[in-house]
Amino acid sequence: KRKLSKQQHSRIAENQAAISSKADQSGLLRGLVISHYGKEVEIAILDNADVMDEQLTTRCHFRAKLPTIVCGDKVLWRPPSSAETTGIVEALLERETLLERPRPYQDPKPVAANIDKIFIVIAPQPEVISTLVDRYLIAAENADIEVALLVNKTDLLNDPANHSVTKEIDQLMALYAQLDYAVYYFNVFDLETHTVDIAHTTDKKYDLRAALNGQTSIFVGQSGVGKSSIINALLGDDFAKIGNISSANEKGRHTTTTSQLYSIKNSEGKSIGKLIDSPGIREFGLWHLTPDNIVYGMREFREYALNCKFRDCEHLKSAGCAIKAAFDNNDIQPSRMSSYLHILNSLDD
Ligand code: GDP
Ligand code: ZN
Repeated sequence: KRKLSKQQHSRIAENQAAISSKADQSGLLRGLVISHYGKEVEIAILDNADVMDEQLTTRCHFRAKLPTIVCGDKVLWRPPSSAETTGIVEALLERETLLERPRPYQDPKPVAANIDKIFIVIAPQPEVISTLVDRYLIAAENADIEVALLVNKTDLLNDPANHSVTKEIDQLMALYAQLDYAVYYFNVFDLETHTVDIAHTTDKKYDLRAALNGQTSIFVGQSGVGKSSIINALLGDDFAKIGNISSANEKGRHTTTTSQLYSIKNSEGKSIGKLIDSPGIREFGLWHLTPDNIVYGMREFREYALNCKFRDCEHLKSAGCAIKAAFDNNDIQPSRMSSYLHILNSLDD
């Protein structure tokens, strides 16, 4: 158990007084869920313009009648009275987006809310699995969330020894750029310039901080591509999570977060964007898909599917299928078609 110093105690008391003074007539505050511990959450104050106050955070439990609350949720909450150490979440505010993990025979399980952008992280190592990238794209499209590709470890791409993998990534990113997905380049050793010698991808984007600006983002992608390293690099010395002085410390509780929201700062220390991370979120994309999800989630397929004259068309099997016609006409790339078939076939497993 951690013992707090007198100074920390008085700071907590000061924070609590500052928080309570901001409540409305009914004693409620707007808040943003920044950590989830299972049975409790950590809340940061949100003003009416949705700006978060990172200094004023409070541990809260929630009313039993509420739906599942997740990281990124906006809520109405009641701060603790002087006798209590935890506040209570009274209401859930409207969600703009929701990531949900489907479960057999149960309602889907909410995982994170109000995500604006999903970055699919790839790298020269481990080897890119393009079907996996397409799975993530399909999941993002079905969640109706903007999605971009993030090529990490560009330092390896510049190495002549990696010529063939560079070419492979180049061609793949050219394909996604053609499908109108934004492609960013990054490496954790060089946060300012990430120049990379790739031929085909036009309009290369290196400013990941700018891409995170004003939004709540998540990083997904296979293990080892560098998601944790990117988050560490972006947070710099600020890696300590938001709200490190709170009611939680006072109780000295040992708790494990199931998900966490981080604040991304610019060089002047001003908060510019948010990131949510958890193992469950990283696995997003590997969740169950239906055949309809797959067609909908592949942008160029979606349009042709609308024109397909067969109801319940399995696509590709029938002459006259609009997707087959588009493929025969080179309007659908072979690699996307092979992803489509691969993912569709994997559904039976
Ligand atoms: P995660 O599983 O996606 O979270 O990946 P990690 O952040 O754990 O990184 C996996 C490995 O890749 C670690 O050994 C990192 O040091 C390394 N790594 C991460 N980013 C970069 C990068 O930009 N360049 C290089 N060369 N290695 C990196
Ligand atoms: Zn068809």
